[in-house]
Amino acid sequence: MSESSTNESFTNEAFTNELFTNEVMTVAGSGATVRLTPSGTLEPASGQPGELWIGPGWVDLHTHVYDGMTQISLAPDRAGLEQGVHVVADAGSAGQATIDGLARYVAPAAGTTVRAWLNIGSHGLVHLRETADPAFIDVDAALAAIERHRDLVCGVKVRSSGAIVGAMELQPLKLGRLVARQAGLPLLVHVGEAPPLVEDVLDLLDDGDVITHCYHGKTGHPWRPDGTPVPALARALDRGVLLDVGHGAASFSFEVAERAIAAGHPPHTISTDLHVRNVAGPVHSLATTVTKLLACGLSLADAIRAVTDTPRRVLGMADPWLADGTVRHATVFRLTKEAPDRSYVDARGAERHPDQHILPVAIIREGDLRPIRDGTTG
Ligand SMILES: [Zn+2]
Repeated sequence: MSESSTNESFTNEAFTNELFTNEVMTVAGSGATVRLTPSGTLEPASGQPGELWIGPGWVDLHTHVYDGMTQISLAPDRAGLEQGVHVVADAGSAGQATIDGLARYVAPAAGTTVRAWLNIGSHGLVHLRETADPAFIDVDAALAAIERHRDLVCGVKVRSSGAIVGAMELQPLKLGRLVARQAGLPLLVHVGEAPPLVEDVLDLLDDGDVITHCYHGKTGHPWRPDGTPVPALARALDRGVLLDVGHGAASFSFEVAERAIAAGHPPHTISTDLHVRNVAGPVHSLATTVTKLLACGLSLADAIRAVTDTPRRVLGMADPWLADGTVRHATVFRLTKEAPDRSYVDARGAERHPDQHILPVAIIREGDLRPIRDGTTG
């Protein structure tokens, strides 16, 4: 599936916007200073850069965008292009019995590129205890759904926490792992309250699998008070398992994140778990989540990599954002000390006051630039 968009509001006219043509920008990642020309190329520029930065288009690895099918889903563009995000991966809103509608109706109607982690529970998140009964999992039907939608499905989602799996305990994860391995795809595993114990969950994950809600602060999380990982997490990280933020309404703790980052365990990917019940707060947007991680001590370079190169690699979309100096896809953002009208609260109610804020101001898709009307509304 290409990232091209037929959205009429994308227009080259926007390149005449003096906000960009006269501004010296910093390239996120390299730190080079550049100017964006009206034809969409980047030219080296001398002079003092302002607050504008340009870099690869952002990716949100954990969202809920099966609009019209599950009650918690947002429209893909609400989580995507309107927030400066080019690619949204839906995290298990669809299972094998429901993914055809996402593929046929929702993803093609969106300007934002959509990928999907197939829920190992057949109905996906139509039912919020989607794997609590053995009858809700069908391994062969899940494999068949992946084969039908190879261009959409990026992996298998399993929510492996007590409130969801109930007496099934590790069974959904083991079956999800079977499907993922058979299909040659990674797992996205939600961790939360026990049972199952997080150690038992982690021991089942391999290179390339992703733990979402990695800094949740619930009882039994996999971090020691000094921010170092418990042994099962240390072993998982050594095997190449990736840490994903997946902020959500209940799954991000500033304190846990601050300590882990200080101890040398930054997230590999930053995602929102954006859905209807957290978009008005505490999550708001991917930019807000990135700002929170900066406030936790993450470097800007690591934060940008965690919403660009690394999630693209997870999705198998590691395409360059620049071709011969021309921008193919990019997110333009301001890095400013000016606080937006917003509070930065985690899922436990703790607040921080970041001294720098990331606000998306435009996206470039297939060479077309579109300003984001108000980067502070997300
Ligand atoms: Zn989620």
